[in-house]
Amino acid sequence: MKITKIIIIGGGYAGIRALEHLSKDKSNEITLFDSHSYHYMQTGVYDFIANENDFSKITVDLFTLCAGFGPNVAFRKEKVLDVDFDSQKVFTEIQDYEYDYIIVAVGSRTKFFDSIIGLKKYAHGIKALHKALYFKQKFELSLFTKIEEEGNYCNPLNIIIAGAGLSGVEIAAQMASFSRDFYKQNNFLCRKLNIVLIDAYERILPGVDEVLVDASMKRLQELEVIIKDGRKVIEVTEDSVHLSSGEILPMDFMIFTGGIEPKDLVYGLKVPKDAREHIVTNEYLQIEGYENAYAAGDCTILYDGEKFVAPTADVAEQMAELCAKNIANTLKNKPLLKHSIKSRGMLIALGRRYAVGKIFGMYVGGYFGYILKKIIEKVYSKRLFMRSGRGSKKIFGD
Ligand SMILES: Cc1cc2nc3c(=O)[nH]c(=O)nc-3n(C[C@H](O)[C@H](O)[C@H](O)COP(=O)(O)OP(=O)(O)OC[C@H]3O[C@@H](n4cnc5c(N)ncnc54)[C@H](O)[C@@H]3O)c2cc1C
Repeated sequence: MKITKIIIIGGGYAGIRALEHLSKDKSNEITLFDSHSYHYMQTGVYDFIANENDFSKITVDLFTLCAGFGPNVAFRKEKVLDVDFDSQKVFTEIQDYEYDYIIVAVGSRTKFFDSIIGLKKYAHGIKALHKALYFKQKFELSLFTKIEEEGNYCNPLNIIIAGAGLSGVEIAAQMASFSRDFYKQNNFLCRKLNIVLIDAYERILPGVDEVLVDASMKRLQELEVIIKDGRKVIEVTEDSVHLSSGEILPMDFMIFTGGIEPKDLVYGLKVPKDAREHIVTNEYLQIEGYENAYAAGDCTILYDGEKFVAPTADVAEQMAELCAKNIANTLKNKPLLKHSIKSRGMLIALGRRYAVGKIFGMYVGGYFGYILKKIIEKVYSKRLFMRSGRGSKKIFGD
């Protein structure tokens, strides 16, 4: 049996989906690299912040997950530092590895714009698990400090979220909903919490279906989130946020969800990229210039014809599936498949047990929307947990 060496960089949504497909062919010897030991399910962060989940529910161990795929899959917790696509080598912080095929799926991170004074120093991102955990703990501690103040004085707690895309809107709604329940349940008097959502565009959720934008606006207003759209953050200090409108907002904690950029590795890769440093692929999702190198997920830029396809977990998985199929087709001397990837839908979590969305052209909302979002997430995580259960038996025995 001829062995094909395949390397996947990144154990996120794209990397795992590619692994699921490619591992079925036992003549593929696959190595997955990730700088972390876990797969982080970012789409479940809203429930984590609202204390409906702990972090065991949004992570899957990559060692046991990979062991669950069988002996042809290995996981290496190593940060990839560079790839030489000509000599077909991957360089990690530990050693070099050769490959026949490669999929780059390293995702993205929060972009803290240098042009906004103080942003990097005083604002926090949410895309990495440790950052989400820090934020959640800080938020709870702030609520606790407020109730400690009961009976003395009651200064408001000011939380600023800059960037009203999907993640900014979800986080604002979850925090507002969580704190509302928290105060109500405990009957605390000192309940002044200001959650301010800022966006440079005229409407929140740019690019999202108008019906969903209206429903989200309505829900955010019910939750008393203060929306300041059509304004840019121009400066951040230790305790204030300055806007292009001239307003200066008091700030106890700030989250920035206003932009993403590729990870370090991508900046250094000598492959075609767009102006924002995302990898450019062809219609088969091969990296331009290399027939055995593919890229998928948030580290790439994708168009459906002329239309930009927003980066989501759903899109990352569809891309990875196509990369895996095209590698399989090449090995079987079959023609490559062209991509026609579109978003299959969107569900926006808007506070505890509430979501709105559009799935396969149908609008859903309220508790039903939330249940649907939960089912999709549960099906995804259950599949991975079952496989990693099999892996842990292999590693630790029954
Ligand atoms: C708060 C929030 C809510 C979201 N909600 C939704 C939602 O409801 N629906 C939806 O579809 N999408 C949602 N998204 C977007 C979605 O999470 C991303 O589009 C998705 O994670 C992209 O998948 P990916 O595989 O490209 O990257 P990721 O999932 O980010 O995975 C990349 C992996 O690569 C690893 N890596 C990076 N650099 C290296 C290196 N040099 N060496 C080794 N490993 C490396 C990382 O550790 C990581 O594990 C949300 C995002 C956020 C932040």
